[in-house]
Amino acid sequence: MSSAPTPMMAQYLALKKEAGECLLFYRMGDFFELFFEDARKASAVLDIALTTRGEHGGEPVPMCGVPVHSAEGYLARLIRAGCRVAIAEQVETPDEAKARAKREGSPVSKALVKRDIVRFVTAGTLTEEALLEPRRANMLAAVCEVRGVCGIAACDISTGRMELEECEALALGAALARIGASEVVAPEDWDSGPSEDVARPASDFASDKGEARLKALHQVATLDGFGQFSRAMLAAAGGLVAYLDHAGRGQLPLLLPPVARPHGGYMAMDEATRTSLEILASQSGGREGSLIAAIDRCSTGAGARLLAEDLAAPLAEAAAINARLALVAWLHRDPLLRGDLREALRALPDIGRALGRVVAGRGSPRDLGQIRDGLDRARQIGELLAEAPDSPPLLAQLLPALGGHAELVDLLARALIASPPTERQSGGYIASGYDTSLDELRDISGNARRAIAALETRYREETGISALKIKHNGVLGYFIEVPTRHGDALMAQGSGFTHRQTMAGAVRFNSVSLHEEATRIAEAGGRALAAEEAHFEELIAAVANSAEPIAATAAALARIDVAASHATRAVEGEWCLPQITEGTDLAIEAGRHPVVEQALERAGERFVANDCTLSAADRLWLVGGPNMGGKSTFLRQNALIVLLAQAGSFVPAKAARIGLVDRLFSRVGAADNLARGRSTFMVEMVETAAILSQAGEKSFVILDEVGRGTSTYDGLALAWAVAEAIHETNRSRCLFATHYHEMARLAESCPALSLHHVRAREWKGDLVLLHELSEGAADRSYGLAVAKLAGVPAPVVKRARDVLARLEKGRDETGGLAAGLGELPLFAASMAKEEQAPDPLRALLDEVDVDALSPREALDLIYRLKQESGTS
Ligand code: ADP
Repeated sequence: MSSAPTPMMAQYLALKKEAGECLLFYRMGDFFELFFEDARKASAVLDIALTTRGEHGGEPVPMCGVPVHSAEGYLARLIRAGCRVAIAEQVETPDEAKARAKREGSPVSKALVKRDIVRFVTAGTLTEEALLEPRRANMLAAVCEVRGVCGIAACDISTGRMELEECEALALGAALARIGASEVVAPEDWDSGPSEDVARPASDFASDKGEARLKALHQVATLDGFGQFSRAMLAAAGGLVAYLDHAGRGQLPLLLPPVARPHGGYMAMDEATRTSLEILASQSGGREGSLIAAIDRCSTGAGARLLAEDLAAPLAEAAAINARLALVAWLHRDPLLRGDLREALRALPDIGRALGRVVAGRGSPRDLGQIRDGLDRARQIGELLAEAPDSPPLLAQLLPALGGHAELVDLLARALIASPPTERQSGGYIASGYDTSLDELRDISGNARRAIAALETRYREETGISALKIKHNGVLGYFIEVPTRHGDALMAQGSGFTHRQTMAGAVRFNSVSLHEEATRIAEAGGRALAAEEAHFEELIAAVANSAEPIAATAAALARIDVAASHATRAVEGEWCLPQITEGTDLAIEAGRHPVVEQALERAGERFVANDCTLSAADRLWLVGGPNMGGKSTFLRQNALIVLLAQAGSFVPAKAARIGLVDRLFSRVGAADNLARGRSTFMVEMVETAAILSQAGEKSFVILDEVGRGTSTYDGLALAWAVAEAIHETNRSRCLFATHYHEMARLAESCPALSLHHVRAREWKGDLVLLHELSEGAADRSYGLAVAKLAGVPAPVVKRARDVLARLEKGRDETGGLAAGLGELPLFAASMAKEEQAPDPLRALLDEVDVDALSPREALDLIYRLKQESGTS
């Protein structure tokens, strides 16, 4: 057996080389086949049979395959499993391959069909409806670093939205967490880039190339009309467009003009905060149990996607927040309008994504129909809203975008049938009356069909065979069929029929007239298909020409849908309109946790609402009380209320006044996060350190049992010091839950700190958790009562009670865990001691390399030293 690869294998290996790390889908007839390692991997992920085909290098070649017609489902599963896929299609027919072989003088029988990679399918470059989740944006991000500044280009190619921003290296993680991209690309030579990125050539990430690409893409001489973009932003944009170009093999998807994301203007949240608040996904990873699941009442997928974006990046400017809130309040006031609006929205197709497919070259007649219907409904929605009185300014800004498509809608309405199909092979999607020559072609087919029916009647009469039928199949085309016993009559010379096929019970014939009519049908049909195809291309071009205004309509509809969702949710849950101020207070009356409340409701239980009133003079609340008493819930509900308000939503409370929060931090003691690999206490401390270095007077911090991940003494000491630092140095608004009652003594030295606890009562030996917040320190921990409540066996609880009695006796005699704290100097005083002010003279001298100084430089140095010391 020869070891040289077969021509097919050689072709496969060359394509595989091009595909690199991507799995190669190699088209063979009606299947995509995978070979070697690709086959092993795919068969495991997809749970399909692994077989072999031929051999290579003396070994059988592992192979698995998926049918082309159901490939999308398999692709979706591979992408979800983190794979990327290269699609190699046959780019010529077997006949073309043979003709080529003949021209080239190679053996025709062995002619190999040419194949090419036509596309890379990756998590961030999907546009297929079946592969995308309707209520989630699918983001692709490119990041790079230019002279110490990180540039980020992010886009959702399913709708074409593209945003550029820059940040410091330290803030990159938080920015990527906000974007939540399903794929991140970065230059291959960037060592400190994000960990799970796709490495791309560094030369793709050049700012001049990026700028040139954007200019070419949008056919402008300067990008100034779109905004101001830094070098880092343009470099990232270059990397992004180059990757899309690569993935689409030169066919770029829809990319709208880039928007520079403003620095500031948004509330900052790092990744740890996002996960711990369970904003878009719960700790278990799914949407179930998250904030968004509890509040999403959007009628459209595009609305739900925008809602997710709003929650991921709440605003930090009162004017912008109030503009959103005013629209929600307007819809909140008018249930009839809201009902009509939501009904109209529910009927809207996803025009943003249909547009994405059309521009990416993967549009179908159905997509065009969706755009037609969506734009027409957008106009109707605009009219509905324009009629309602007292409309808020944001609406006035959005309304113009809902109209202006009359011409395109009219064109699509005339050109397409009511519900066009997804496939266009069999035609029939162009409406009659749109093109007279197409109508004529269809008439020809129609007439010919009628003529065939007439022929059948005529033949029956002429032959006297009433069982004679004219039929059609894919192999023979049209034919005349009679039962076997009548076959001979038609076989006779001069009967006008020619024999084609003899079957078990029937004989089949052709005739000159039938052949003529059949040819007319086939020809007219082929020309009609070609005419439809040409119209399809024109319509696609017309839509692509209006891509930007169509995208603007989709965006305006999504914004209106989000407002209607907030208004609906607010009515359902009796939520209130928050008041946004520039101050640093936070006054929430009867606040509730939207997710916990919903869970309790389902179980038929009632949520106990609690107030929270922080101000400059009382900015740190220490919250004690038994486990399971509701501390975490209280902390989080206040953080979520702030987040919802700044995202532009009503909030679950009776009243809420919120001084704008610039940064939101949420940390949960490590014991809750045991599943993580790294030392959980280490993680907890790293995350806490970030708060101490970043939180300021306008920030809001919730700390839940920080310090729990280590020994009691260490934990108490750290919790104590962190609380003090936040009180003295960061001066942020803060809710701090702790089970160390010793911390209550902090109130003696920290004037803006106050003590609170969740109430509990012991009733006949059983613990009753009231979930009600009350002032003052918790009287005791109720740990044993909680243990009993949790089902720890009675003898164990009794034994623990004995142990506790002894411990408490010991504590009373020695002063206990916090015995030494009475003499602790104040935080500020200890800071001064710890951190002696740096001495500039000493620092300057430390830097001097005496041997390297010229006499002149030495003299300069003396002048500088005198100047620093203030004696010159
Ligand atoms: P802790 O942090 O004090 O251990 P949690 O906040 O985790 O307690 O609350 C424990 C459980 O108590 C929650 O899962 C919820 O079922 C219930 N709970 C918490 N707060 C309330 C409340 N305000 N009203 C009713 N039930 C509550």
